[in-house]
Parts: sequence; structure tokens; C-alpha cells
Amino acid sequence: MINVDPLEIEKFSQLAHRWWDPRAEFRPLHEINPLRLDYIDGITGLGGKSVLDVGCGGGILAEGMAARGARVTGIDLGEKPLKVAQLHLLESGLQVDYRHVAPEALAREAPRSFDVVTCMELLEHVPDPSVTVAACAGLAKPGGHLFFSTINRNLKAYLLAVVGAEYVLKLLPRGTHDYARFIKPSELASMCRAAGLEIGHIIGMTYNPLTRVYALGSDTDVNYILHATSP
Ligand code: SAH
Repeated sequence: MINVDPLEIEKFSQLAHRWWDPRAEFRPLHEINPLRLDYIDGITGLGGKSVLDVGCGGGILAEGMAARGARVTGIDLGEKPLKVAQLHLLESGLQVDYRHVAPEALAREAPRSFDVVTCMELLEHVPDPSVTVAACAGLAKPGGHLFFSTINRNLKAYLLAVVGAEYVLKLLPRGTHDYARFIKPSELASMCRAAGLEIGHIIGMTYNPLTRVYALGSDTDVNYILHATSP
């Protein structure tokens, strides 16, 4: 009864060996990483914090947070991305505790354990995102911070995140994203409130195809990050 789509796990597993190649399929994750790290660090002050990265994949964000002094646990349901993440620690010399466990299961095992919970670029790949949001909420300590990033659902998001990114610019492999699973900020905010969280800020993440530069700002039409806190 785990909230997971095996086809999605398979998709990421097939690409896992190229996770740390900054010019391959996960290039966008490498490029947005400094932006999201600064955003999370700016709000939480990562040094010394216990952090859970849900759907950590090959560990791009998890390692970044560890490098800033956080004690990071990374969880994912893909075996191969986790193996790649584990191996990459040999190269980086950083410490991250990687585990193959669903957030729902970890929430039962270790409720209210983390100062910060991040769940980036995952919700648009699960059958029921509200279940994942509730699990993340259950994993944060009272007063803890949560960050969710995903893709908005509207015509512009379809044109930029699917047609543009997968077919025209070929930033991502075809079939990476399923439009029907995109989530409006209002829907994500409702899921967070239903899970007992308080909404902080919603910030947009934009990509300029001419300059090839990503930026954070007020435009939440396509990619966005929602910050919430546990009361
Ligand atoms: N969060 C990382 C990776 C995003 S890619 C980052 O932003 O850099 C999405 C990841 O979610 C993949 O590693 C995939 O294996 C994982 N995933 C997909 N469904 C999942 C689920 N139900 N539970 C946990 N991880 C899942």
C-alpha cells in the first residue's frame, strides 16, 4: 500500500548511472541546485540541522546540504539512484545516511524527527501527492521547516515543462513528466494545510532558454518551491 509508481522508479533507475554527469539528463537538477540550496539555507540555517531529503535520487541536493553542515538523511524508493548516491560519497568525502524506505514508513518509524524536510521534484511522480505531503509533515519536528518543489499545471507549464524541455530544448528525456500529475500551488497549499502545516512562501523557479540561466523569483507559472512550517 505504498504510494509509489513502479514505472517512475524504473525511469529514474535506468538513468541513475549518469546522475552526476552535469551535462547529461540530470543537468537541470545540477543547475538549479545552488539556487535551491541558498533558498533553503537562507530560511533554515542548515549548519547543525537534522535534514531529511525525500526522493533524494543520486544525492545532488542531499550532498549540497551536507556540505553546508547539515546532518542529512536521504531516502528514495529507487535502489539504483541510492547506490549511485552512496558511491558518490567516496568522491565527495561528505557524509549522508542513505536509506531505501518510503516516507510513509519512515514517518511511522521516526515521527517528528527532522528540523528540515525537503521533497524536491518528487510530488509530480507519485500516484497521490497528498499522501507524500502528509508523510513529510509527520517527519518534521514541531517548528520544523518543509520545502516542496514541483511543476504547476496550466498551458504555459505544459508548453515549457513538457514540450519545451523534453521536445524542443531536449533538457530532459521524453516522458520525464506527465502533465496530468502537475500540481497547482493552490492544490499543494491545500495538501499542506490538510496535513496540519502552515504555509510560508511560494517562490517561482524560471529558466531563460536564451541565456540558459535559472533564477528564483515571483513567477510561479511553471516550476516553484513551497515553504511550509510544522506548528
Ligand atoms: N529530489 C532529487 C531527485 C528528483 S528525481 C532532486 O531534486 O535532486 C525524483 C526521485 O524520486 C527519483 O530518484 C525517484 O527514484 C524518486 N521517487 C519516485 N517515486 C518515489 C516515491 N514514491 N518515494 C520515494 N522516492 C520516489
